[in-house]
Amino acid sequence: MGRLGSWIEPFPEGIYVKPADAWVDPSQPKDKALVTHGHADHARGGHGAVWATPETLAIMRVRYGQQNANPVAYGESVRIGEVEVSFVPAGHVLGSAQIILDYQGERVVVSGDYKRRPDPTCAPFVVVPCDIFITEATFGLPVFHHPDTASEIDRLLHRLHAEPERCVLVGAYALGKAQRVIAELRARGHDAPIYYHGAMERLCNLYEELGVPLGELRPATGAKKEEMAGHIVICPPSALNDRWSRRLPDPITAMASGWMRIRQRARQRNVELPLVISDHSDWDELTRTIREVAPKEVWITHGREDALMHWCMLQQIKARELNLVGYEDEDD
Ligand SMILES: [Zn+2]
Ligand SMILES: [Zn+2]
Repeated sequence: MGRLGSWIEPFPEGIYVKPADAWVDPSQPKDKALVTHGHADHARGGHGAVWATPETLAIMRVRYGQQNANPVAYGESVRIGEVEVSFVPAGHVLGSAQIILDYQGERVVVSGDYKRRPDPTCAPFVVVPCDIFITEATFGLPVFHHPDTASEIDRLLHRLHAEPERCVLVGAYALGKAQRVIAELRARGHDAPIYYHGAMERLCNLYEELGVPLGELRPATGAKKEEMAGHIVICPPSALNDRWSRRLPDPITAMASGWMRIRQRARQRNVELPLVISDHSDWDELTRTIREVAPKEVWITHGREDALMHWCMLQQIKARELNLVGYEDEDD
């Protein structure tokens, strides 16, 4: 065999695994797709056949309808063409997986999106030593350091309790972040009902069906204004500033995102209470993960590649940018 990983070919629309004749997270419909997780920039509809975890397949079914689905649970493996394929947790959202590809004695791990800190809604990231580690770099700059999640949740609760005649409206992505914020609030002892925007309903129900308890949730639609005073309301970021929020009692606008570290992003969305809660690794998590995985090569898919490339060079790890398109995230 020639160069390391010569059987893996990156294209702008995804990673092609030649001896399996299959694609990882393709952004266009393909005959065979291996999907790391349910976010729209990784999971698309319309593939001939999909291999993913049962949870990811359930999420895809909610979003795209019935798929030709091949469930592969964490720790299981399947043979596709000449490649042994297995899935292990990535700690990003429910069902998110790193995909392990073994072929002729070489091991490639495609991590998809991942984080290292605990998340009550999904299984924690598993370190898998490999020859080539394919990583994202969404927050791949040393300035990105996500604070402790519990302290961000406490800031939210403090603000809620300080002005009981108002509500706090939290913008959070409908898949993953919304359920995580709810579960983190429960973990901090917040037992009151949480109101949600209609766009959250199906995914919140699915999380509960798949065994992630979220406590008492109520639709904001149809609820009286006074009833929501002193409560938390969760909506997709796009609904933060639209007409929909006029039905709420004088909302304090919050948003849960890794990007809230950047003041300008918070200001753009008129966010009064920025909460730095991310489903991606920060700089320390990215570099710690690469150290622990100890690959011979690092391939970087999306995000801020330059600083991570440079860091790998200093560690004498060969690194390469893949320049995939279409991965700018639904999630953060
Ligand atoms: Zn994602
Ligand atoms: Zn992504």
